[in-house]
Amino acid sequence: MSERSLCGTCQHFGSDLPEETLVQVRVNPEADRPEVSTCGMPSNARLHLRVSATSSCDAYSPAA
Ligand code: SF4
Repeated sequence: MSERSLCGTCQHFGSDLPEETLVQVRVNPEADRPEVSTCGMPSNARLHLRVSATSSCDAYSPAA
């Protein structure tokens, strides 16, 4: 799997993380860290889905 398709670099990941942490996750989503965060994609958010930075799904959309 490409690093670029991981939740940690998806625009829907991390709305509940501190900005500094989110920046670090986006730079290197596969670093050893405990962050699990909300997936804000509407169809997942209503389920309160929480994912790790190294998770992924077909709705991946890169963060700007
Ligand atoms: S679960 Fe899918 S939509 Fe949600 S953050 Fe991960 S890749 Fe993005």
